[in-house]
Amino acid sequence: VSELKKKSEIIVCGRHIDEYLQTIKRFHGSAAPGIVLGGFLVDLCRELVGPGVEVDAVVETIHCLPDAVQIFTSCTIGNGWLKVLNWDKFAITFFDRNTRSGYRVWLNLTKARSFPNLYNWYMRLIPKKELPLELVHEAIFEAGRDVLSYRAIHMTELYQRIKKGHIEVCPECGEAYPVHQGGHCTACGGSGYYEIVSPLKPAEGS
Ligand SMILES: [Zn+2]
Repeated sequence: VSELKKKSEIIVCGRHIDEYLQTIKRFHGSAAPGIVLGGFLVDLCRELVGPGVEVDAVVETIHCLPDAVQIFTSCTIGNGWLKVLNWDKFAITFFDRNTRSGYRVWLNLTKARSFPNLYNWYMRLIPKKELPLELVHEAIFEAGRDVLSYRAIHMTELYQRIKKGHIEVCPECGEAYPVHQGGHCTACGGSGYYEIVSPLKPAEGS
């Protein structure tokens, strides 16, 4: 980080760098560059939408970026205010849940080229071992918002909250499941992700 941009003066999501990195580590287990950079997207997007607006969020990758939104906003997967797309694009959108208007912020690769360590990390041009985390962090803090672009957007899809439907008891496993899945739960219907290797102990039921 250059003299012009002193580390101690950088504030991201209301935190100085040390606290910012600590907050990320506590939640995510490490200060992964995707979240360190992600906080800058969150910060900018939140600012663009403006204060006092209740926002919902969309994140366009399942990697790292969803955690940046969950750490620094009240939008989480669990409360349904955050939707995560598996597009592997480094972009987020915050929108007013009443008007559906908002902003999309993304990592602009043309701008990122001016910060080689950031660019090479994101594009995976240099193996992780040869590009120390500290250098990537430095590049991210040096770049900040200078590698981001944004546009005002209006939501045409994904703006609705996902409601819970009616539930039934599965005749096979006895667990509750949503009726729209059919006569059995998804697992008992043959589309599960596991096979059972141990039976229930007598104390745990039938
Ligand atoms: Zn079942």
